[in-house]
Amino acid sequence: MNKNLLYRSIPKVDILLEQEEIQSLIDQYGRDVVMDAIHERMETLRKFIGNCDEEETAKHKIDDLQADIRKSVQALYTPNMRAVINGTGTILHTNLGRAPISQEHAKKLAEIVTGYSNLEYNLEEGRRGERYSHFEKLLCKLTGAEAAMAVNNNAAAVMLILNAMAKGGEVVVSRGELVEIGGKFRIPDVMEQSGASLVEVGTTNKTHYSDYEEAITEETKALLKVHTSNYRIVGFTDTVTIDELVPIAKEHDLPIIEDLGSGVLIDLSRYGLTYEPTVQDSIRKGADVVCFSGDKLLGGPQAGIIIGKKKYIDMMKKNQMTRALRIDKFTATALELVLQEYLSEEKAVQNIPVLRMIHESQEAVADRANALKQMIDNAQLAADTGVEPCEAQIGGGSLPLERIPSMAVTIKPHNISVPKLEEQMRSLPIPIIPRTVNDTVYLDIRTIESRWFEKIVEMLGELLV
Ligand SMILES: *Cc1c(COP(=O)(O)O)cnc(C)c1O
Repeated sequence: MNKNLLYRSIPKVDILLEQEEIQSLIDQYGRDVVMDAIHERMETLRKFIGNCDEEETAKHKIDDLQADIRKSVQALYTPNMRAVINGTGTILHTNLGRAPISQEHAKKLAEIVTGYSNLEYNLEEGRRGERYSHFEKLLCKLTGAEAAMAVNNNAAAVMLILNAMAKGGEVVVSRGELVEIGGKFRIPDVMEQSGASLVEVGTTNKTHYSDYEEAITEETKALLKVHTSNYRIVGFTDTVTIDELVPIAKEHDLPIIEDLGSGVLIDLSRYGLTYEPTVQDSIRKGADVVCFSGDKLLGGPQAGIIIGKKKYIDMMKKNQMTRALRIDKFTATALELVLQEYLSEEKAVQNIPVLRMIHESQEAVADRANALKQMIDNAQLAADTGVEPCEAQIGGGSLPLERIPSMAVTIKPHNISVPKLEEQMRSLPIPIIPRTVNDTVYLDIRTIESRWFEKIVEMLGELLV
């Protein structure tokens, strides 16, 4: 085979540029991007010919050049961040973006972020305002706190609180509450960064009132409680609750700080889950400052919400670190919308996707599962389908022991293996992330809204042939 001849049959750049296909790419995407793609693909093609021993294959590759250029250009404009369909049954899946925002809220959000807004502008007085003002009153009303603000996430909230209230001093915390929050981030390390030193008291399973009492020195600036939201210590255990800490805190004039992790504003035991301490409880029992995540059980945007006594919140608002950790207009808008839903518990449970998923009855999930199975069967895909009971979970480091009875659509493909199907589902235009159990693909319907069903059937139709 004559490689020189092959190299010479690659169209020249100026010839390519005259082609209709390439012209239309330039019209759509601009010349620079197309030129880059042309050079990149030509380089690849030359290398391919260099390594290729079959003339026919090489000729095909040359014929594909224009189509390959188009692919390169389109790939650049295909967002890597994509919607995925969560069939895992894990409601707060940290890797899948934790709490989804409702479509209603997203619409309102789009309206605000696509133009100017009063993010930091006081419309009544016509001067500079505060970005926390949009949701501060709501948070106070919902939790009973005097003041509130929010930063980028709860880890940032912990760091800011300790920096503002205990920098250069000591903070007393129980050894049973030294939490690792995932991705190798540990609360004790986050605290160290704040400039406060941790004084650990008690043991892993037991911490007593006297342990706190004995640890307090001239250097003590605060007492800290961390809610162990992602693990449970059971058996021979003892902890000191916020209300039990209040007398020592008062005696030594020390503030009590509580990191609640996944803050909840409603009593989840009403929805069949284990009681998870609410934010209101923490304030009522005497915590001076409380922080929690926006995108865990609250069901809102990523944020670290800080509430408590006004004098402490004011210290934090003025802290230099706040400028580095501040939330943007996306978060401020979404937080207000989500918190408004909590004015009525009924509305919150209907309109906040995370709560709706927790709240949906197993019968309702089963009905939806049967509907999807029927749709798949009607499309006559090459697979055996079924509806099976399964267990969903909260995830996101919240209520670790909790399992919610759920229903899954099961799929056993006829012509490809289950691992292969799972892999192909991940590369669909809207990737579907399933669970596999006993060599069967499980789609837990609790975490899949019905609006996706048609799309799921259509996409599976491409794979199950
Ligand atoms: C999840 C969690 C955090 C971190 O919250 P992010 O919002 O993910 O930064 C901190 N403390 C506790 C106890 C948590 O559970």
